Amino acid sequence: MSDSFDVIVIGGGPAGYPAALRAAQNKLSVACIDEWKNRDGTNAFGGTCLNAGCIPSKALLESSELYHRAQHEFAAHGVKVQGVGIDIGQMQKRKATIVKGMTQGILGLLKAAGVTPLTGHGKLLPGRKVEFTGTDGSKKTLQAKNVVIASGSEPMPLRGVEFDGKAVVDSWGALEFEAVPKRLCVIGAGVIGLELGSVWRRLGAETVVLEALEQFLPMADGALAKEAMRHFKKLGLDIKLGAKVSEAKAGKDGIQVSYADASGTQSLTVDRLIVAIGRRPFTKDLLAEGTGVVLDAKGFVEVDDHCKTGTDGVWAVGDCVRGPMLAHKGKEEGVAVADLIAGQYGHVNYKVIPSVIYTAPEIAWVGQTEEQAKAAGRTVKTGSFPFAASGRAKAMEAGAGFCKIVSDAGSDEILGIHIIGPMAGELIAEAVLAMEYSASSEDLQRTIHAHPTLSEAVHEAALAADKRAIDIPNR
Ligand code: FAD
Ligand code: NAD
Repeated sequence: MSDSFDVIVIGGGPAGYPAALRAAQNKLSVACIDEWKNRDGTNAFGGTCLNAGCIPSKALLESSELYHRAQHEFAAHGVKVQGVGIDIGQMQKRKATIVKGMTQGILGLLKAAGVTPLTGHGKLLPGRKVEFTGTDGSKKTLQAKNVVIASGSEPMPLRGVEFDGKAVVDSWGALEFEAVPKRLCVIGAGVIGLELGSVWRRLGAETVVLEALEQFLPMADGALAKEAMRHFKKLGLDIKLGAKVSEAKAGKDGIQVSYADASGTQSLTVDRLIVAIGRRPFTKDLLAEGTGVVLDAKGFVEVDDHCKTGTDGVWAVGDCVRGPMLAHKGKEEGVAVADLIAGQYGHVNYKVIPSVIYTAPEIAWVGQTEEQAKAAGRTVKTGSFPFAASGRAKAMEAGAGFCKIVSDAGSDEILGIHIIGPMAGELIAEAVLAMEYSASSEDLQRTIHAHPTLSEAVHEAALAADKRAIDIPNR
C-alpha cells in the first residue's frame, strides 16, 4: 500500500464514503479510514447511518407499521387476518441482514472505485499527515494533499442518567431490544424519540415520551406539529411537554425516572429507558497538536461555507460540522468537497435541505415554515390540501394529513412546503426540486401531476395558494 494519497478521508459514514467515491471518480488517489465497530466486534463502513441510524431504524419502522396496519387497517380493506403476532427475533434478524448487506455494499463500492479502505483509527497530524492505527494496533503515518474529516457524531449523554446498555440505552441500544418492553420511557420528543417511540409503541409497549420544551416539534410548521401531535396521541404515545428529566435510577420495580414539570417534581417507573436528547460531534483523538483545525464551543469542527477548515487542504463534512445532522446533508457536503478538491464546481444549497420524520403519518418539509417566513418579514400566502380529498390516499386507507405550501404573496416564490401524510418523505422531493429552481406556486400549478397519485396533493396545495384548487372548496 502506498503511504501517500491525493485525498485521505477520515470516517466512512454517509458524509465520508461519498467524498471518497467522488474523489476517486475525479481520478484522485484516495484512502478512506473508518473505525466503526459493531456490537459483535465486526468492523463495518457506513457509519452511524447504516449501522445504527437511518437504515436499521427504517427497517424496524416498516416492520412495526405492517404489524400495526394488520391489526388496525386490514379489516377496513375486507382482509381478514387471525392471530396476528410478532416475532421480534425475526424482525431483528431481517434488520441485521439489511444492515449487513448495505454496509458490505459500501465496502464493495469503495473497492470497485479504487479507493483504499483502511479499517482503524485516523488522527490528523500537522502538515496534512494522518496517523493510521490499524485494528491490530500497528501505526503508520500517511501523507495526503487533502484531508477530509468526516468523523460524525455520537449520542448526547444526560447528566444523572447512566447508560447501562440494557435497560437504559441510547438510540443504538433502542434498535437492539430483544423483546417489547412493557413500560417504556423515551427522553426527548425529537426525531429519534418520535421514530423509535413509534416503533415500540406499535409493537405494544406503554410508551411515555418526556420532552423538556413546552412546544412540540418547534422546528416544524405549526400546523404540521399540531396535526402530528393528534396522530401520536391516537397511536397511544403519551407525550408530556414541559417535562425536563433530571435523573434516572434503577429501583427494585424498574427504572425510576424523575422529571420537573409545571406542577413540580414528578417520577415514573419503567422497564426500559431511551435517552434521545440530541447528538454531539465526535472528534475523540482526532486532532494532534498543531494541525490548526479549530473546534467551536460545542465541539464542532469549524468550517466556512465550502467546508474548508482554517488549515489549507483540510476539509470537514457531515455531522461533525455545523448544520442539520442529516445523512443527505453530509453526503452533499462530501461530494461538493471532493469536486472542489479536483478543481471543479462544488456547492451545497443549505436553504433547501429536506427534513423527514418517518412516522405514520410521515412528516416532511423543506424551506421556511409559515411562522419563520412571517418572522423574516415576508408577506405570505398559503395553500393546503388534505389527503382526505386525494383519491389515491383514500384508496390506500391513508387519508390523514395534508400538504401545505407557503409562498411569497408578492413574487409567488415558494418559500416552504410542509407535508404530513402518506409517503411525505417521497413527495417532498418534488418540493425540493421546485425550490432548487426557485419555482413559484404557479410553476407547480402548471405542472401536470399523474392521476390518481399522492403528488396531486402538492399540485392542489399550490393551486389552493391562489384559491384555484379544483378538488376542494377554496376559502
Ligand atoms: P457518521 O455516520 O457518524 O460516520 C462517521 C464515521 O466515522 C463512523 O463510522 C465513525 O466510526 C468514523 N470515525 C469517527 N472518528 C474516526 C477516526 N478518528 N478514525 C476513523 N474513523 C472515525 N439522518 C437522515 O438523514 N435520515 C434518517 O432517517 C436518519 N435516521 C437516524 C436514525 C437514528 C437512530 C440516528 C442515530 C441517526 C439518524 N440520522 C438520520 C442521522 C444520520 O445517521 C447522520 O446524520 C449521519 O450518519 C451523519 O453522517 P456522518 O458521515 O457525518 O457521520
Ligand atoms: P433532537 O434534537 O431532534 O431532539 C432532542 C429532544 O430532546 C429535543 O426536543 C430536546 O428539547 C429534548 N431534551 C433535551 N434534554 C432533555 C431533558 N433533559 N429532558 C427532556 N427532554 C430533553 O435529537 P434526537 O432526536 O436525539 O436526534 C439527533 C439527531 O439525529 C437529530 O439532529 C436528527 O437530525 C438526526 N436524526 C434524523 C432522523 C431523520 O432524518 N428521520 C432520524 C433520527 C435522527
